[in-house]
Amino acid sequence: MAANQRAKSVGPESVIVVLSPHVDDATLSVGGSILLLGRMNGVTVYNLFSISDHTRSTRFSSTILATTVRFLEEQIAATLISYSPRFFVLQDSSLRSKEERSMVQRLGTILRKELARDKPDVVLVPMGVGGHPDHEVVFDAFIGLLQEGSVSKEQVRLYEDVPYANPSSVESRIAKLSHHYGLRLSPEFVDITGVFPMKMKAVGVYRSQFQSKDMKRIRDYARWIGEQGKVSSRGPSRFYERRWLIQ
Ligand SMILES: [Zn+2]
Repeated sequence: MAANQRAKSVGPESVIVVLSPHVDDATLSVGGSILLLGRMNGVTVYNLFSISDHTRSTRFSSTILATTVRFLEEQIAATLISYSPRFFVLQDSSLRSKEERSMVQRLGTILRKELARDKPDVVLVPMGVGGHPDHEVVFDAFIGLLQEGSVSKEQVRLYEDVPYANPSSVESRIAKLSHHYGLRLSPEFVDITGVFPMKMKAVGVYRSQFQSKDMKRIRDYARWIGEQGKVSSRGPSRFYERRWLIQ
């Protein structure tokens, strides 16, 4: 499928902002794409819901401890991947009451101001695959900015939320985005084979969040995307990330 010809290209001089609901989402979902750009300045990750008590271990039993551990993990991964992380003092869904509509508005106000200041050429936005409420809030807030004209669709790449993305979850999310938001999307495949080992090294930094079976799931999905994007079926497996352009 042809890409949107009017979409702004991602190049060496591009100013890029990644909206990351949590402190690991940018690395998991678009870490390979950022690595390919190979530079620290010019790629800024907004870690939006930075206050969290979510870990896979009961060792980090307080919000302060869990948030601190996750902050440190993000700083290390950002150095490996080469981006500038920023942290927003917002509680993730496990800590806040369920007034999601007001959170969408609050986040929209924050993003409107920050994006006007940073003036990115390209904004990478989570599609909201998998139904995590924080990811959907970020998506809804951003769509509000798109609808009011604060950002243009030519600036936008929607990324697949890893590790929630799999063939069926992405397909059902695309159907929902078409039905509820009227979005027509076309895929953009990014071959990250050459930087994939470094991406997985950075993913492995988030020890408070992942186990080895999660790493395998991420690897398998990157390979599966490679099979969708490959021009030739010959040769060894390649690893890809996939993003979606708004037509
Ligand atoms: Zn997340």
